[in-house]
Amino acid sequence: MQRILICLLSLLTVTAGFGQFKKSENIVVITLDGFRWQEVFGGADSVLTFDTAARYSTNYVKDHFWAATPQERRQKLLPFFWSEIASKGIILGNRDYGNYFNNANPYWFSYPGYNEIFTGFPDTAVNSNDKIPNKNENVFEFLNKLPEYKNKAVVFGSWDVYSYIFNDKRSGLLVNDGYKDLAGTLTPGQQLFNKLQHEMPAIFHDGERVDVATFHIAFEYMKARKPKLIYFGLGDTDEFAHGGMYDFYLDAAQNTDDWIRQLWEYIQSTPEYKDKTTLILTTDHGRGLAAGGNWQHHGQRIAEASEMWMAAIGPSVKPVGESKEKAQAYQGQIAATIAAMLGKEFKPLHKPLPVLTFPGK
Ligand SMILES: [Zn+2]
Repeated sequence: MQRILICLLSLLTVTAGFGQFKKSENIVVITLDGFRWQEVFGGADSVLTFDTAARYSTNYVKDHFWAATPQERRQKLLPFFWSEIASKGIILGNRDYGNYFNNANPYWFSYPGYNEIFTGFPDTAVNSNDKIPNKNENVFEFLNKLPEYKNKAVVFGSWDVYSYIFNDKRSGLLVNDGYKDLAGTLTPGQQLFNKLQHEMPAIFHDGERVDVATFHIAFEYMKARKPKLIYFGLGDTDEFAHGGMYDFYLDAAQNTDDWIRQLWEYIQSTPEYKDKTTLILTTDHGRGLAAGGNWQHHGQRIAEASEMWMAAIGPSVKPVGESKEKAQAYQGQIAATIAAMLGKEFKPLHKPLPVLTFPGK
């Protein structure tokens, strides 16, 4: 690990620094837990679509997601992503072009991944999914201490471990995760989603709610309170993949693509957000390959599980589209990049990985 770190830090020393971006005033982060780069760039996987031994509905996959070429398939799966974001934003991680985006941490599962994204560092002490309050300061917490972001940084997640990852007790951030009800003065929409989340099927058990509840609770909060930093931590993709339900996995990704469309249309039609909000999309880890069945799984024993993607759109991002540059970036660079897009330098106790070098406007 030490060797990997030194190697990647030396690779990354030639960065443009935090002054490279045109400033954003707001940042929205959305993660699709364990959603593979293979589907992002290639749509429905041919091995999984035509698997005659599959225990999911391959007919459903064919009907909804299949097309002759990977370009058509990805467009069908993620129509907003491959129109608006591909034309006005940037997409990293297509390994077919040598554009690599990876975990810097060696674990390739959720808590270490989210820790790396938001605290900017692959901490080897963060090596389980246990509900342990995170010792590391995250970038939302850092920004929430500055007057302009005070009480304007919020976290919504399907998985009930986010309150530990963001250490809400120490950080003071609002973290609404698992089946938590939103408190305080609520709009009729917020009251409805507080109620509905308990009436939806608890298909994942273990305190993880379905994303449709998380998304709308967060979206209603955004409309009512206009936070400057908001995170949507979504988990359906990972749960359905672990369950071997490729049809539902693709459905979850497509639903999320449409939520991102709704969110972006709201952002671009709301004075507090329009043309001053950058949206960042990514995942916490990758998964294995379809051949051999490892697509269901991730973790250290799955060789490809550190392979990921990220995308961004907004005033701090040039419309590069799908990056075809031979390059290596890490999820741990996102924390410093979020701060840099706001014109700030993230200064936690440990030194975060440097900001991403993708071109700013
Ligand atoms: Zn998982």
